[in-house]
Amino acid sequence: MERLRRIGIGLLVLLLLPALSGCLGSDGILGIPESNGVPGGLTLACLDSSKYTSMTVEIDYEAGYLPESTSTDMLKQRLESVCDKPDGINIQFTETDFSNDETWSANDVRDLGDEAKAVSPQSGSTLTWQILFPAGTYDDTSVLGVAVDASTVAIFKDSIDDAENIFRRPSAEKIENSVLVHEVGHLLGLVNLVYTSPAEHEDSSHPGHSNNEDSVMYWAIESSSIANFFDNDLPTEFDSDDLNDLSGLADGSIKCTDQLWRP
Ligand SMILES: [Zn+2]
Repeated sequence: MERLRRIGIGLLVLLLLPALSGCLGSDGILGIPESNGVPGGLTLACLDSSKYTSMTVEIDYEAGYLPESTSTDMLKQRLESVCDKPDGINIQFTETDFSNDETWSANDVRDLGDEAKAVSPQSGSTLTWQILFPAGTYDDTSVLGVAVDASTVAIFKDSIDDAENIFRRPSAEKIENSVLVHEVGHLLGLVNLVYTSPAEHEDSSHPGHSNNEDSVMYWAIESSSIANFFDNDLPTEFDSDDLNDLSGLADGSIKCTDQLWRP
């Protein structure tokens, strides 16, 4: 009986595997305009302060989809701990009518994101990353969040609410906390998106993701099956391998590719 159950879970995981790659907007990666850059393309602009001394995180949310304050507070703290921004990191909230409350492709996130942008990502001495909180779902409904280019992420609250189980362990709020930090972790180039880590912490079956379930970059964080992998406590922090990668990129000891800007 136990064995059958295990096979059942194994099958479920196998069936979900192709869906999990959606987190990086992989269906649209070939279609990314070169000027937008790939996720991780503005990693050095964040880790270095020689040009970009401040950072803005522009949160564009559909009415009713304002992120939890715990999520944005946590994101600000995580970015402050890794990015070099002497003039500060500021979060800016804008209610936005995206005129799409159904399904989103990676291209939709880029196009409607571009229309909503207050400023370009590289403007003067300020680096701006944009996070959409739209109504509706990604075209792959198992995806809770997606990073679609060097500066743009979307978080799908409707799917996060659906991912919460009846026990609310973990709660939708906790899932949102982790998914937001996870997607912005992709903008920081994690894991191995624009470099090769000296540590073996990329999951061999889930490119771009950590194999450590204690890292917020763990591959199951982006998926609607998240509640099958965690009981209540979800990882919300970068682990030591993630942090070592970011320090190596910052001090130049790890080679960084595909950058839209270099110190
Ligand atoms: Zn991911």
